[in-house]
Amino acid sequence: MAVFSLFGWHSAARAANIEKMAPTFWWAGMKNPELQILLYGKDIASSDVTISSQDVILKEVVKQANPNYLLLYVDLSEAAPQTFNIVLKKGKKTTTVPYELKQRTRKGEDIEGFTAQDVLYLIMPDRFANGDPSNDVVEGMLENKVDRNEQYARHGGDLKGIEDHLDYIADLGVTAIWLNPTQENDMPDGSYHGYAITDYYQIDRRFGNNGEFKQLVDKAHAKGLKVVMDMIFNHCGSENYLFKDRPSDDWFNFKSHFVPTSYKTASVQDIHAADYERKIATDGWFTQVMPDLNQRNRHVARYLIQSSIWWIEFAGINGIRQDTHPYADFDFMAEWCKEVLEEYPNFNIVGETWLNSNVLVSFWQKDSKLAAPRNSNLPTVMDFPLQGLMNKAFDEETTDWAGGLYWLYDYITQDLVYANPMNLLTFLDNHDTSRFYTWEEQTKNITRYKQALLYLLTTRGIPQIYYGTEILMPGDKGEGDGTLRRDFPGGWTGDKTNCFTREGRTKLQNEAFDYTRKLLNWRKGNEAVGKGTLKHFSIANGTYVYERKYGNQSAVIIMNGTDKPQELDLTPYKEILPKAQATDVLSGKTINLKGKLSLKQRESLLLCF
Ligand code: CA
Repeated sequence: MAVFSLFGWHSAARAANIEKMAPTFWWAGMKNPELQILLYGKDIASSDVTISSQDVILKEVVKQANPNYLLLYVDLSEAAPQTFNIVLKKGKKTTTVPYELKQRTRKGEDIEGFTAQDVLYLIMPDRFANGDPSNDVVEGMLENKVDRNEQYARHGGDLKGIEDHLDYIADLGVTAIWLNPTQENDMPDGSYHGYAITDYYQIDRRFGNNGEFKQLVDKAHAKGLKVVMDMIFNHCGSENYLFKDRPSDDWFNFKSHFVPTSYKTASVQDIHAADYERKIATDGWFTQVMPDLNQRNRHVARYLIQSSIWWIEFAGINGIRQDTHPYADFDFMAEWCKEVLEEYPNFNIVGETWLNSNVLVSFWQKDSKLAAPRNSNLPTVMDFPLQGLMNKAFDEETTDWAGGLYWLYDYITQDLVYANPMNLLTFLDNHDTSRFYTWEEQTKNITRYKQALLYLLTTRGIPQIYYGTEILMPGDKGEGDGTLRRDFPGGWTGDKTNCFTREGRTKLQNEAFDYTRKLLNWRKGNEAVGKGTLKHFSIANGTYVYERKYGNQSAVIIMNGTDKPQELDLTPYKEILPKAQATDVLSGKTINLKGKLSLKQRESLLLCF
C-alpha cells in the first residue's frame, strides 16, 4: 500500500497510511456548507480524529464495516480559505494530514452552461488524436498496450490531441465539445471508452492529468468553445478501490453481488410495471465489471454529488452529460441536479435518456407533468426518438400522411408532452449508435446528409454532432461498438490521410465539410434558431415548411422530401413569409416568394428575414 504522496509528511511514528483521500481539496464559500472527506488507508478506522481549525467544525466521523475507511463530515459555514490539519491519533502515534480549502476564483453564477444557441461536438478522447505518444502506455496500469487494429483496445488518443485540434473544431463552427469520460479507467481491458471509472477524482493518465484537463478547458474557452464533461453515477469500474475494498456491501446494489440489469428502464415510468421489473432495471448491474452504485446510501450519494461539484469548480466546465440516467435512483438523481443547479444556476446537465418514445423521454425532463408530483430536476434530455426518425426521414418518399419528412412533422406535433422542447439534445448519431452513414457506399447520396444536417441545425433543441460526421465517417453497430469510434484520420503521426486538412479530404468529404462549416457558422449567434419559437406547417406536395423566429429575426426552411420536382403554392405560408423575396443561405440565390415556388428533387431552402 503506497503512502498518499501528495503530502510528503514523514513521521516515523505514523498512525495511519492514507492511500486515498476524496476530495483531495475543496473550497471555502460554497453554497452547500457541508463537506464529506473520505479517508482510505489500512486500519484507519481505529484512529481518533480531530481537526486543527477554529472555523472548520468536525460534525461527524463515520466508520464503515471495512476498517480501512473513515468518513468525516465537516461544516464549512464559517470557514475562510485555509489549510487545516486532519489529525489522526492511534495510541501515542499521530498522523497529520493537511487539507486545503481554496479561495473560489469565480462565482457559481458565472459558470455558463450550454444552451440551444450552442452546437455540441462529441469526441471520444481515445479515438480523436494522439497528441502525446509518451502517455500511450503507463507503467503500473492494468491495460498496458495500444493496438490500433483492435477495435476494443486503446488507441492512444488523449487530451493533448484534442487541444492540438481546437482550431479545427472552432473553425468548423461548433461552440462546445462534449468528451466521453476522461476520468481514470484502470481496468484490464475494454475501457478505452471511459465508462468504467476507477477514480472519480483523477483524469486517466493515458489521457493526461487533472492540470492538463483544466488547461484544455481554459484553451477551449479562449476559442469560444464550452466543455461538457461525461459523468457516470449509476456504476463504476470493478477495479475501483471503492468496490474492490468497499467500505461496506451496501455501497453497491444487491449487496455487492452481480445481478444483471434488464436494461428495460421504461419500467421506471410504467404505471403497470411489476415491482420486480423496476428493481431489476435500476438496481441490476450494467455489466459484471460495472458494479451498480447504491445511491440510496447517503455516503455514496454525498461522494458522487461532491465529485461533480469538484470538477465544475476545479475546471470550470459548462455542462455535464450524465450516463445511463434512468438506471440510477430517481430521487438521488433529482437531488443531485437540484444541488448542482443551486450552486451553479446557469449550468446545464443532459441525461442519457435512451428511451424509444417521447412520452418516456419527457418523463425525465425537469418539470415534466407526466412525472409530477415527482421532479427529476434534469434540464436537458436526449431526443432518441427523433434520432431514430431522422435516420430514415431523408431516405423515404414523403407524402401528406406518411413517410419521410412526414414523420418529423408528426413527431414535432406531439411536443406538448415535453416540459421544455427547446431543451432537448438532438443528434443524428452518437458513440453508441450506428453512424448516420452506416456504410461508406451510402455516402454517395450526399443530399441525404445535407437535408439531415439542415434539419438538425434548424429544428428546436440543442444539436449535437458526433466527431467524424463532417467527413462522412461511416459506422455499423452490427460490426461492434469499436467501429463506431474509429480514429479520426490524421490524428496519429504517420496516418496515410489527414482529414484535418482540405488536401487530406476527398472531394466528397470536402463537400460535406464545407456545407457543415457553412451551416454551423451561420447558426452561431443566430437568435432565431438559438432562442426562437418553432412554427410549422403540415406536409404539402411532399414538402415540409417551418419557421424559427426571435424578435424581428426569422429563418424559414422549405424542404422537398421527394425524389421529384415540386411546385408549391405559397399562399398558405403568408404568415411566415413577410417579404416578396429572400436570400437562400445555402445557394446564395435570391428566391422570389410571390405565387408558386418551384423546387428541384430533394431541394432545400434556408431563407432569412
Ligand atoms: Ca497518447
